[in-house]
Amino acid sequence: MEEKSSKFNFHSHCNFCDGIASMEEFVQDAIGRGFDCYGISSHAPIDFQTRWSKNQQHIDVYLQDFFRLKEKYQTKIELYLGLEIDYVVDGKDIYFQRYKSLPLDYRIGSLHYMDLLNGKHWNVGASFEIYNSALNELYGGSLKKMIERYFELTVEMIENCQFDIVGHLDKITDNAECFFSEEMDNLMPWYLSMFDEVLQVVKRKGVILEVNTKKFLTKKRTFVHFRHLKRMKDLGIPVMVNSDCHNPMLMEEGLSEAYFALKENGYRTVRVLRDGKWSDVEF
Ligand SMILES: [Zn+2]
Ligand SMILES: [Zn+2]
Repeated sequence: MEEKSSKFNFHSHCNFCDGIASMEEFVQDAIGRGFDCYGISSHAPIDFQTRWSKNQQHIDVYLQDFFRLKEKYQTKIELYLGLEIDYVVDGKDIYFQRYKSLPLDYRIGSLHYMDLLNGKHWNVGASFEIYNSALNELYGGSLKKMIERYFELTVEMIENCQFDIVGHLDKITDNAECFFSEEMDNLMPWYLSMFDEVLQVVKRKGVILEVNTKKFLTKKRTFVHFRHLKRMKDLGIPVMVNSDCHNPMLMEEGLSEAYFALKENGYRTVRVLRDGKWSDVEF
């Protein structure tokens, strides 16, 4: 175990996907802000049109760009390369397999897409209209069924793919709590026990859970939600704190609040890449 107050972020986008600045601008910003270790994790290209992914052929450019920057800034910051990889209902682990042989330092598994709605996978971060029609057309208007399905797919993802990190594990609750707050309050006892089952799978597979602060500024919450940290700590689940930034200005948004919450819930270390290997580092 190491002792040092260091700065880390391993979930970060750039204009290879839907980030608003180049990889180099993110790296320069990270250096300016005093980050010790920084990971780039663009969305991996997938086989259907999304608002964030680029084409498969851009992968080579992504790798080249990264290795150029890693060398250029090697005395200033430790850089790591990852991808945020989707798990898609009918594709099972195809994307995990597709990017398995790339020279990446880590892979984040994320579930953004669910079942087919009018021929397209619906995105859980969608507008109220899409969210609501998925709810009614696919899950019989039952929020419970929708959330159950989300976690069923999440567990499949964790079981079938060897991801290093699970991205924003409870993302489904973002819109659920926003659009149906009262219903979610009533569902909470059921939700907590179901989420506990998901955490047991995470624990058994030894995967790292991120506390994703991307929406901290607007929603004042993280994914996973602070409400689960105590249970995660009791289970001994390793965590890391990531800002999932798409804009360098938001690189540090919510990080200190997340570390504070982790500390309050008994965590003393985060699992990060340091000196080229996974380490539990005190914060
Ligand atoms: Zn994501
Ligand atoms: Zn992301």
